[in-house]
Amino acid sequence: MPIDRRNVLLGAAALTPIVLLGTGCGEKEGDVNADKIFKGGPIVTMNDAARSAEAVAVRSGRILAVGSEAEVMQTKGAGTEVVDLGGHTLLPSFLDAHGHFMNALQIVQWANVSSPPVGPVTSIADIIPVLKEHVARLGIKPGEWIIGYGYDPTVLSDGREATRDDLDPHFPDNPVLLIHVSNHGALLNSKAFAEVGMDETTETPPGGVILRKEGSNEPAGLVMETAFLPIFANMPQPSEEELLDTFDEAQQIYAGAGVTTAQEGATHAKDLRLLRKAADEGRLYLDVVSLPLIFEIPAMVKEYAPDFRGGPTELPDEAASAFGTYRNRLKLQGVKFIVDGSPQGKTAFWSEPLLTPGPAGEENWRGAPLFPPETVDKAAKEVFDKGIQVFSHCNGDAAIDMLIDAARKAGVEAGDDRRTVIVHSQFMRPEQLDDYVELGFSPSFFTMHAFFWGTVHTENLGKERADYLSPMASAVKKGLRCSNHSDFSVTPMDPMRMIWTAVARKAREGQVIGKDERVDVWQALKALTIDAAWQIFEEDRKGTLEPGKLADLVILDKNPLTVDTDDILDIAVIETMKEGETVYERSA
Ligand SMILES: [Zn+2]
Repeated sequence: MPIDRRNVLLGAAALTPIVLLGTGCGEKEGDVNADKIFKGGPIVTMNDAARSAEAVAVRSGRILAVGSEAEVMQTKGAGTEVVDLGGHTLLPSFLDAHGHFMNALQIVQWANVSSPPVGPVTSIADIIPVLKEHVARLGIKPGEWIIGYGYDPTVLSDGREATRDDLDPHFPDNPVLLIHVSNHGALLNSKAFAEVGMDETTETPPGGVILRKEGSNEPAGLVMETAFLPIFANMPQPSEEELLDTFDEAQQIYAGAGVTTAQEGATHAKDLRLLRKAADEGRLYLDVVSLPLIFEIPAMVKEYAPDFRGGPTELPDEAASAFGTYRNRLKLQGVKFIVDGSPQGKTAFWSEPLLTPGPAGEENWRGAPLFPPETVDKAAKEVFDKGIQVFSHCNGDAAIDMLIDAARKAGVEAGDDRRTVIVHSQFMRPEQLDDYVELGFSPSFFTMHAFFWGTVHTENLGKERADYLSPMASAVKKGLRCSNHSDFSVTPMDPMRMIWTAVARKAREGQVIGKDERVDVWQALKALTIDAAWQIFEEDRKGTLEPGKLADLVILDKNPLTVDTDDILDIAVIETMKEGETVYERSA
């Protein structure tokens, strides 16, 4: 029986190393021991079937065990570190369901001269130390630009615009440019005016604003709109090497907030080249999910027609294979469509007019789409047909209708499990939730709007429509899974404020925007964890604490499920871990 004998021999040979290991190293349970066990504080699993646990064990970057302390402690070996949470709360770390990672690279090179809650500036005098600290931190030399963002004179205690005279004594040798909170203008000092060649002889262009010093034609400091655009366009751009060097600090914005999956939610071709380079150089320690812009696809896919708008467009059949897989922590997940603008800027697309005039004083203004429906239909069909996930920015209900129509025409059904994500879904009509259910659409809401622009939306749209912004409670009642986002850097990377705005829906001025759309903290947390993971097809590896999933974890100083609602805003991140490795730790 030569064959049998051979099999026996092979079997014996295969067994030998295991036997040797078992007897040789003297630690035959070594394979199942935890690297770390967490206990001694609330553990929120985000698993509906077992919401809390007493302990969690981690091994090789994954969760090994979750359950009672007695169960989990069975995974303890000689080398296991047991971490006492000391009453702090452990959760799965957060996913950024929609934001702009490229903005993080920019922002870390700028000073934050915003006012609370985004930044520290409450008076003109406060701006100076913020800029001085920024100069020291970045080692900015004389002659180099100092750029700040978030300048908002309307909330400063001085009750006036800052001028070049406020900045000049402190920064005589550096051009200073403080970008207005609207992003439509900036405050300049004298050195900056000299750099951009703007003086008392400069005429104000049509559609522009150049504030002048009283009794003279000399620019005072603030420059807005068309007068500002050429300044911003001609600013010196950081080199690729300088940008690559900002990746660590940019990722710390996320890690410091307990976020371990970031999104680059509108990726241009040149951004993707930079992201790939950073990934290939091993600079990413968080996961970055990139959504290439549909109108940049031609530049990214060689076979694609050069002119997306109206030209022949065809994705190669194998295009989908470029999506859905991490390479060195960078993943392309889907194609990003942008169908309308912003509701606070009145450039979203609604089916019914606003109560206030349009941005240029138009009557019965209801905004406009960025592309005609035929263009959206055609592009969406192509992306759907090729099996690539669609993410579409739609703020107004008429823009949402365009995606609904495009999906219907393309034959999309919920059963396809495409998880088409409608980013913002800000001003829906209630019946559109039924369309979402039918088509398998999933909303990524932006409840921060209730706080930052709730009052403005109520003025523009009336109470009923404003109250229905980001209707998370209604969506959940329909059985939809939804995420919540900050659209970073439109609003800060602040998961606690995202939770709070979903739960309280309070405007800056304190009134509640849509009390019926408030959700409980568990639901608000799901929108930042398991349901955000589901939207990008990662629910089997992220979003809950369950054995086998990645050990992407955050430790908070308090439990958001048990503190008073308004105290959620004060919860601090103690530590953030990506696959078991600490990527952020609060300094003691
Ligand atoms: Zn966005």
